[in-house]
Amino acid sequence: MIKYNLKCKNKHEFESWFLDSKEFEKLKSKKMIECTLCGTKSIEKSIMSPNISNKEQEDKNTKSSNNIKKVRDDLLKMRNFIEKNFEYVGTNFPREVRNIYYDKRKNKNIYGKATQEETEELKEEGIELTTVPWIDKREDN
Ligand SMILES: [Zn+2]
Repeated sequence: MIKYNLKCKNKHEFESWFLDSKEFEKLKSKKMIECTLCGTKSIEKSIMSPNISNKEQEDKNTKSSNNIKKVRDDLLKMRNFIEKNFEYVGTNFPREVRNIYYDKRKNKNIYGKATQEETEELKEEGIELTTVPWIDKREDN
């Protein structure tokens, strides 16, 4: 729905709702819009009011981008936590993780990279891994 402020040739202003701008043009060309005050059918669009449907859509968009931001913040927090408390072993990760797993004396937190295949292998060996979405710290991600 769209709301138009309308103005007749006698400068009366009034508001009217239409399905969309096409409906307005159609009714106008068929002279089916009348001034509510003087009844003339010479009507022009005045300034368009904010469209309520769009407003709702905007709210939704703001909400979902807030949610995305929140998820992003959480992931960033997680990343910062890992970087602070875990040792980065890069692509040695599968080897390092096995060292820790099979040598119980070692107990350290590590993080690094593993291919999908390596991850599967480690899982088969009973090593539980957590895959963390590694979010870019730059805002313009
Ligand atoms: Zn009028």
